[in-house]
Amino acid sequence: MNNPQTSEPRGHNADAATQPGFQAHGRNSQVQGKIGAQQLERLAIVYIRQSSPQQVLDHRESRARQYGLVNYAQALGWPKDRVVVIDEDQGHTATTSDERSGFQRLLTEVTLQHVGLVMGLEMSRLCRSNRDWAHLSDVCGVFDTLLGDQDGIYDPNDVNDRMVLGLKGIISEVELTMMRNRLERGRQHKAARGELFQKVPMGYVKLPNGQVELDPDEQVRAVVQLLFDKYDELGSVRVLWRYLLRQKVRLGIRLQEGPRRGHLEWRQPCLQTLYAILRHPMYTGAYVFGRWRRRRQRPAVNGQRTAKVQILPMSEWQVLLRDRLPAYITWERYLANRERLEQQRSRSDRPGSVRSGKALLSGLLVCGRCGGRLHINYVHRKRSYYECVRHRRDPNHARCPGLSAAVIDAYVTEKVLHALEPAALELSLKALQGIEEERGRLDRHWQQQLQRARYETERAERQYQAVEPENRLVARTLEKRWEEALQGQRQLQEEYDRFLHTQPPLLTEAERARVEALAQDIPALWHAPETSPAERKEIIRCLVERVVVTINEAALDMNVAIHWKGSQVTQDTCFRPVRSYTRMPNLQELLERVRYWRQQGCTAAEIATKLTAEGFQPPKRRDHLFTAEIARSLLHQCGLGAEHQQSDLLKKHEWWAADLARELKIDPKRINAWIHRGWVEARRTPIHKRWLVHADPKELRRLRKLAAAIDQTACHRPDPAMTRPRKHADN
Ligand SMILES: [Zn+2]
Repeated sequence: MNNPQTSEPRGHNADAATQPGFQAHGRNSQVQGKIGAQQLERLAIVYIRQSSPQQVLDHRESRARQYGLVNYAQALGWPKDRVVVIDEDQGHTATTSDERSGFQRLLTEVTLQHVGLVMGLEMSRLCRSNRDWAHLSDVCGVFDTLLGDQDGIYDPNDVNDRMVLGLKGIISEVELTMMRNRLERGRQHKAARGELFQKVPMGYVKLPNGQVELDPDEQVRAVVQLLFDKYDELGSVRVLWRYLLRQKVRLGIRLQEGPRRGHLEWRQPCLQTLYAILRHPMYTGAYVFGRWRRRRQRPAVNGQRTAKVQILPMSEWQVLLRDRLPAYITWERYLANRERLEQQRSRSDRPGSVRSGKALLSGLLVCGRCGGRLHINYVHRKRSYYECVRHRRDPNHARCPGLSAAVIDAYVTEKVLHALEPAALELSLKALQGIEEERGRLDRHWQQQLQRARYETERAERQYQAVEPENRLVARTLEKRWEEALQGQRQLQEEYDRFLHTQPPLLTEAERARVEALAQDIPALWHAPETSPAERKEIIRCLVERVVVTINEAALDMNVAIHWKGSQVTQDTCFRPVRSYTRMPNLQELLERVRYWRQQGCTAAEIATKLTAEGFQPPKRRDHLFTAEIARSLLHQCGLGAEHQQSDLLKKHEWWAADLARELKIDPKRINAWIHRGWVEARRTPIHKRWLVHADPKELRRLRKLAAAIDQTACHRPDPAMTRPRKHADN
């Protein structure tokens, strides 16, 4: 529709003069007086607008009248090929002109001085908002462009015309607003009666008489029921979603619009739908209206638009009528689901939902260095560690040290189980009560301060009001004082808000009851093999708000602060395992001891025991004990690894059994057999008792012959002269 149209409008060939409402001929002289040669030289633009596609279909009549303006322009003296129709905005709904390209084009043409006359049906409707309207008439005034509609031609520079145009603009705006308000009020009344239904969620159908019933399809209802039951069981929307996908459960959705309205379609579940279903109060049988509010669209900033709707808290819902419709779940269950969904929203200040991983503190651990949440990293099926990921998001941020999940999990578990012992619990709850009282006292203090500030402000105001206006100097001073008091009050209020914000949440009555119930049989439950990590996590989260870990890189320890629910904090410094020996601060000392014990002839297992006894702790181990394996790896680091790697153990012409076998190109087992039969001369190493075989060049020759003889004769009893080892000088 972009090309300008100058021909007869489609489907319409009536003469402009026969159109109702076109009275130009009656007042020709008046109209002609306004149109000068200057205007006639330029274009006449007919601007046509219908907002929504539905309006375009419905209002053919109005559209025909708009195209009739083309004929009118011709009647006023513009040649046929100088009348341009702009109808790009047909079917566009936009509340501001920014999104209507046709209107922008019109303005551009006017400012380029291409336009002598702008025509539109009821000129003021040309623009939706008063602002656009005023803008257009201003621009037309500057560039000597006339405005026209079926009632006449207006010169924006003429005071009378301008006033008429302005009034028309205002009236049109008011008319539109009134209509909208009337419609809206009608809707509100209907909603207040609980009869206005827009879309109904899955599992419900809207009957032709406007009533809402359960879906007649049994399978649709069963799936809805399954969603709620499974969510109770699985506890997380994502887990529920994956479950549904895995089990190939499809959701029965009734099409709400289009020609196939009311048809049932089976679709794969998506996360948004699941969230919407769990949040929808209709499933409890409640009628609700106004759960969200439409936002005025702001222009996009950096390509990011603001959300079109704002979700309102339950207290701001316009209408909530319970037990109006058939229900799937109870209201209480709905509230519990909402609560759970809110808890599970992953935000940096909330722990997020319990995940299935083994690490017990995921979501609760906070980096003591930068305050970010520590993320769990499952490097290996058995090993996992928490790491601060701040440096990934912020390249300027130095990397914070991470820590092994096992150690901190064990530490917090121990503390939690200890806290749940009945005696400890009673003490904690008592302490909690003390804290609550303390906070109440602080709060009362704040309230008094606020009250005093309010009083001061009111008094300053009264004094200012009481002064005679003639007494300007005094009034000015008093006004200043009043302003200061107001400012002070505002500051105090802000400080109070900050105070409230920094106070940790208190334990609710329900939470307290849950803790007490849990305490009865926790330790047994905790250690039971059928208790899953997720259940253990739930228990920890009942008690622990967050755990702040500050790692001391210079030493083998870390500071752990457990923030309990209800504002108590326990702090402790505990042993921190490191990921590798290179990070151990006392590594040199440790290796020194390893060398010493090796020189004393100790085996790896013995060295491990000695190191543990001397108070050393190995990296990465939960039990803090050295094992033979660790000792072996340490020996290896000292260059004292396994004996076969130590060449200084070999005397002249001595071979490791395996090396000799390789030299003779025979199976190493045969060397072992020869050693046992006494066919070669051998000795054992001091620690691992491995065999060292003496074989100088002459012996090597003998052994080669021996091997060849056995191979050739297939006889296992060769000539005794060949099997006798030669004596050598060392022995
Ligand atoms: Zn950090």
